[in-house]
Amino acid sequence: MSHLMNTYARLPVAFTHGQGARVFDEAGRGYLDALAGIAVSTLGHAHPRLVKAIADQAGRILHASNIYRIREQEQLGDRLAALSGMDEAFLCNSGCEANEAAIKLARMCGHQKGIDSPAIVVMEKAFHGRTLATLSATGNRKVQAGFEPLVGGFVRVPFDDLAAVENIAAGNVVAVLLEPIQGEGGIHVARAEYLQGLRRICDERGWLLMFDEIQCGLGRTGYWFASQHAGVKPDVMTLAKGLGSGVPIGACLAAGPAAGVFKPGNHGSTFGGNPLACTAALTTLAVIEEDGLLARAAALGAKLRGAFAGALEGQAGVVAIRGDGLMIGIELDRPCGELVMRALERGLLINVTAEKVVRLLPALVFSDADAEELVSILSALIREFLA
Ligand SMILES: *Cc1c(COP(=O)(O)O)cnc(C)c1O
Repeated sequence: MSHLMNTYARLPVAFTHGQGARVFDEAGRGYLDALAGIAVSTLGHAHPRLVKAIADQAGRILHASNIYRIREQEQLGDRLAALSGMDEAFLCNSGCEANEAAIKLARMCGHQKGIDSPAIVVMEKAFHGRTLATLSATGNRKVQAGFEPLVGGFVRVPFDDLAAVENIAAGNVVAVLLEPIQGEGGIHVARAEYLQGLRRICDERGWLLMFDEIQCGLGRTGYWFASQHAGVKPDVMTLAKGLGSGVPIGACLAAGPAAGVFKPGNHGSTFGGNPLACTAALTTLAVIEEDGLLARAAALGAKLRGAFAGALEGQAGVVAIRGDGLMIGIELDRPCGELVMRALERGLLINVTAEKVVRLLPALVFSDADAEELVSILSALIREFLA
């Protein structure tokens, strides 16, 4: 009997090692990894530069408390600011913590303006994490059920619907929080005009625009951040998943009216931004830039979507193939969770989210041969499943 809490419906496989987009199980069998730990392993598995940087850092110093200066953290703050145009960063260990920081920051901003009960606008089908505040911000009852009372102070509207935000009359709103591309919700891409419209509304009303780029950011869409497609800069941006390419790290970035809100003692984290995690993130960002992985993600993503459209053409039951760059969803007309196990049996790692959407989030180092193999195995599986 397992001594682990029963929090995951785990597949019957355990991986011992990997190389690039390939992982190997205890029996030595190889799998093509088209999920990358749900958008985590940006550089694939066992990337030589990341392996060396982590080993070298471990040989110097793994951890230093945030009661001291941490040079690696200062460098990462500079780097993230340069890439995003944001002013400052709070570093933590996960996505929910990054969003927790964003929610606290928005509330504190509200209090500083004299709003005693600040509210944050959030979206239907959103996913922001599993802590009490972030599951309350999440737009999925399954994530919330059993954990009531939820944290209050959230106003929910439909995603990609500007009028719904425009029509909010509540006087205590301080911020809008959303994913520019919804991940868990089923790969829903916000229109550029929507994000631009939100920027305008937030400017007019003095609200903070907060983007959760935890799944869609860090180069996956061909831009450093998905919101850059629309040319919209938020006031707060959260990052995690792919930032350390497998080493846990999250970040809450702030700019303009959101910068300078926290003062010493307002927020903190024991492990947040420790030297090891920051080195992993700095190396991940350096490899993305030096190896041209942004252009690669955009081009390979377009090629993959085109190839799936061709391979699945005329197949009844395929509702949509959508996404951006290497964030791809194939929506079917019926629940298709069993495709995950069938793919595993054929040596392919994928995921199904929102019950009917096959989700692909491969590493940015996916090769043309990996892409061809993915299209061939998965389109055959989908055709068999729908037949
Ligand atoms: C995964 C995810 C989170 C939560 O991140 P954790 O590291 O699991 O806490 C939050 N927002 C989005 C968009 C995510 O995809």
